[in-house]
Amino acid sequence: MGTVTDIRIAKRTGFCYGVREAIDMAKEASAAGKATHTLGQVVHNEGVVQDLQALGIRTVETLDDVDHGSAVVIRAHGVRPEVMERAAARGLEVIDGTCTWVIQEQRELAKLVEEGYTIVLLGTPKHPEVVGLLGFSPDAVVVDEEDDWDRIPRRKKMALISQSTQPPWKFEKLAAFMVGRSHELKIINTVCPVTIRRQEDTLEAAREVDLMVVVGGRSSANTKELTRLCGIAGTAAIQIESVRDLDDPGPFADRRIIGVTGGTSTPIEDLHAVAQRILEIAGTPAAQARAAQLADAAFAVAATPAGRTTSLPTQSTAL
Ligand code: SF4
Repeated sequence: MGTVTDIRIAKRTGFCYGVREAIDMAKEASAAGKATHTLGQVVHNEGVVQDLQALGIRTVETLDDVDHGSAVVIRAHGVRPEVMERAAARGLEVIDGTCTWVIQEQRELAKLVEEGYTIVLLGTPKHPEVVGLLGFSPDAVVVDEEDDWDRIPRRKKMALISQSTQPPWKFEKLAAFMVGRSHELKIINTVCPVTIRRQEDTLEAAREVDLMVVVGGRSSANTKELTRLCGIAGTAAIQIESVRDLDDPGPFADRRIIGVTGGTSTPIEDLHAVAQRILEIAGTPAAQARAAQLADAAFAVAATPAGRTTSLPTQSTAL
């Protein structure tokens, strides 16, 4: 028999504003009757991509797949400047969904290049945001894990900058490491505040529960970081991609209160489905019988505007 009686959701979850706005822009363009495409998946979430498809919004991998005169939405991660130029040259309507925070990173990088710094970029090398950033600073040295840092050269004038979703502790550690590699070190802290708040809220939730469930892309740096933080709070955690990964009640055995959190690309609806499913497979008989209501109640106290799936006024923001 199941033992789970309660679910707690980390305070600010769901899409970050960057992802939410890019999705909204695509929906608005399509609603205005434009043949709308997103360059790459606007977010790596099957449900969202299917929703957009149902609205006639196509995901394309290259601009060559977009017909002249059609609209193409640039996702929150941003792109290299050449991509924007190419889209304009092909006569496409570019709808720039690049997150304002990422635009700031791009500007800072361009400035550092102009000022002659040797740039170190903390980020996941093939992540689309990093690929886009390198368009503004092709010679930047991209590093990720600590065992990679020995590749950082010693130069007189160096600068450090970060992909938006990197953990703040790693950025600080790398900054300290780089002090010994340079005479002048300029540090531009571009770790996104949404990422930081998400981590704080996850830590807070983890301290109050018996087990945490972290929902998000398996290879996503920010999802992995959330799982690691749960460990720091002394709470066991399992990481899943979606509700489909939840069919084994085993991890919930003898646990009473379960916490749920998610990465910045995980829609709040997915977290709700996960909360409900946990209660269904591992709840006490009373909790199983009221799984949907208990999941609703958990969201009613947790979800803030930052957790909404959309900013569009025409859609319901409540679950
Ligand atoms: S994590 Fe931050 S920087 Fe990245 S898209 Fe979201 S809001 Fe923008």
